Amino acid sequence: MLVVMEAHATAEQIEAVCAEIRAMGFTPHPMPGPTRTAIGITGNQGPIEQAGRLQRLPGVSQLIRVTAPYKRVSREFKELDTVVDVGGIPIGGSGITIIAGPCTVESREQTFNVARAVQAAGAVILRGGAYKPRTSPYSFQGLGEAGLQILAEARALTGMPVVTEVMDTETLPLVVQYADMLQIGARNMQNYSLLRAVGRTRHPVLLKRGFAATVKDLLLAAEYILAEGNPNVVLCERGIRTFDDSLRFTLDLGAVPLIKQLSHLPVIVDPSHASGRADMVIPMARAAIAAGADGLIIEVHDNPAFAVCDGTQSLVPESFADLMKQLHRVAAAIERPLVRCDVAQTK
Ligand code: PEP
Ligand code: MN
Repeated sequence: MLVVMEAHATAEQIEAVCAEIRAMGFTPHPMPGPTRTAIGITGNQGPIEQAGRLQRLPGVSQLIRVTAPYKRVSREFKELDTVVDVGGIPIGGSGITIIAGPCTVESREQTFNVARAVQAAGAVILRGGAYKPRTSPYSFQGLGEAGLQILAEARALTGMPVVTEVMDTETLPLVVQYADMLQIGARNMQNYSLLRAVGRTRHPVLLKRGFAATVKDLLLAAEYILAEGNPNVVLCERGIRTFDDSLRFTLDLGAVPLIKQLSHLPVIVDPSHASGRADMVIPMARAAIAAGADGLIIEVHDNPAFAVCDGTQSLVPESFADLMKQLHRVAAAIERPLVRCDVAQTK
């Protein structure tokens, strides 16, 4: 339930409503808006029977039932777009944020080369895996802490914040020390203990959609993180499994405008994992921005033929630069700016 206060409600009136909600055994979440404050309520199992107690309080304008099973991530709960700050770079709101980098950190040289190249082309956040969730236990599993260290050096070199995957609660404290944003991969989207653990940090989280997860499953997974008190969540559509196996996954672009209706959280798209093919990445990236995505996460490698992971879907730096030029035109057509990082680019 949402208690909408009158435009001129005083701080005392808002606190009195919060106190009443607590007295009823629930948790109030005051959310100041541009015109008035709304107070979300969580902790109730079903409709609140004594809602009349709140309606009668001074300064209360109306009570709205939140019908969605997810509460804190819903647009009903919070009308305005959430903007997540990743080391000074915004994701969400009016701008479009481009994240790029290798699938996995292989070496200093490879990571620095790719970081410099994607930054020169206009990417503002660097991606790179140090812990890799691989289908086969015999495939390369990532460099671990040595990879995190290389990412931190790449950040120092370029000024770009870094996003990297955290695979389990054991390594979370270590990854938090290095990363500006924690990626929860598709395979872990429903790892609820991991979701709760990242929810207890205040680190920005990139939550990727599981490849057999519905939009509702994704939003409920995000709810786990917000319910622990971390509002800094960015959702990522990265392709789902369907009957059609022509491409690696099926990019569900309809999910983008749908999620933007249902939730205030930013949504970005990963056309690299969705298609699995470098030649599909550019058209899918253009389409994602046209569909209203708040950003993209793209795999780039300086020598894809020798990449230890996901080489077939990695763009070479020249193709990534070409993509950025095209994205400027798509973004202009829908009247959204690409987020730039002047500080980073002058380093
Ligand atoms: C990745 O980003 O490298 C990755 C493994 O993605 P996903 O979890 O979407 O498969
Ligand atoms: Mn990958």
